[in-house]
Amino acid sequence: MTVYLIHFQTNLHHARHYVGYADKVNKRLAHHRDGSGARLLAVCNERGIEYDIARTWEGQGRNFERKLKNCKNAARYCPVCKQGPAREYKPKDKEP
Ligand SMILES: [Zn+2]
Repeated sequence: MTVYLIHFQTNLHHARHYVGYADKVNKRLAHHRDGSGARLLAVCNERGIEYDIARTWEGQGRNFERKLKNCKNAARYCPVCKQGPAREYKPKDKEP
């Protein structure tokens, strides 16, 4: 399993990240994109909030995902947040 961290371009309520895990992250992201994945990301879709995977941890699973979620400070692990606003963030193109 791979744990992934999704960064939103703008805040949704107070959330700016989503942490999940999947066997195939790209496939999972495609589900998020079409609204059949996580509810939080479906709301992002509805509101036109762009997001993309900021970081992945291969070979990790549910326990690590829990740990990250409980930490409530995913920004600490997020390379996009760490770069700060000076660097332009370009989301990758949608997977086909
Ligand atoms: Zn971030």
